[in-house]
Amino acid sequence: MKHFKKIILLLLLCALSSSLLHSSIIKRMTVEFSDFVLISKNIYVDPKISESEYKNIVSLINDAKQRIIDRFGSFKSTPIIIFTNSSKMAKEYGTNDFGSAIRLPWNQYVVFGPKGQNIDIVAHELLHAEVGDRLGYITTQFKLPVWIDEGVAMQVDYRKKYLIDFSSINQNEIDRVTSTGTSQIININPFFSDTREQIIRNYQISKALITKILKQYSNSPIYEMLNRAKNEGFENIFTLQN
Ligand SMILES: [Zn+2]
Repeated sequence: MKHFKKIILLLLLCALSSSLLHSSIIKRMTVEFSDFVLISKNIYVDPKISESEYKNIVSLINDAKQRIIDRFGSFKSTPIIIFTNSSKMAKEYGTNDFGSAIRLPWNQYVVFGPKGQNIDIVAHELLHAEVGDRLGYITTQFKLPVWIDEGVAMQVDYRKKYLIDFSSINQNEIDRVTSTGTSQIININPFFSDTREQIIRNYQISKALITKILKQYSNSPIYEMLNRAKNEGFENIFTLQN
């Protein structure tokens, strides 16, 4: 046990030191001291975003949280939420034009780009934060398969391009997507680093798989399933029954 704790500590230190080397992480960590405007608890916006937009942004966050509550029963996560107003600023804060959830050992950040003011995108990223909080940093980084992480987030993301019929998926595709591993690094995990069409297909398959698995469990609470998976292994809980 002592040895295990040492390994955890070492991993945290590694994550901390490598993380600090990235300026986007420093940007996120110091957002409260920047010229970004705090418009509501934990919500910061680019100073270039017009004041008339603030109300819409706060409503968007509340509506996205409500969508998660309606689908999965609760939402407890309190990430720092940052809205940027340009591709350049989004990149500086470590995301793309749409958005992403970034999990760090001490906090989670959900950062949106100029095209991220959309309820599907916001609910998707907030659910990543919720999953991160429920499972804890170590589990999400080292045990949570990316296809499950994305498939769960897609359950509150209703963009049409990600919706497919389960019968269109063949076994090879299922095997490929479910073996993409746990790395959330865009350039390393094949889930995120293929052609644009293939990446969209990966999201479609993950969504359809998780929808089917949730039905197998009679739509039992997802957070309970995640908690069980944390203890019993993700591959044992998130599996298709024939
Ligand atoms: Zn996602």
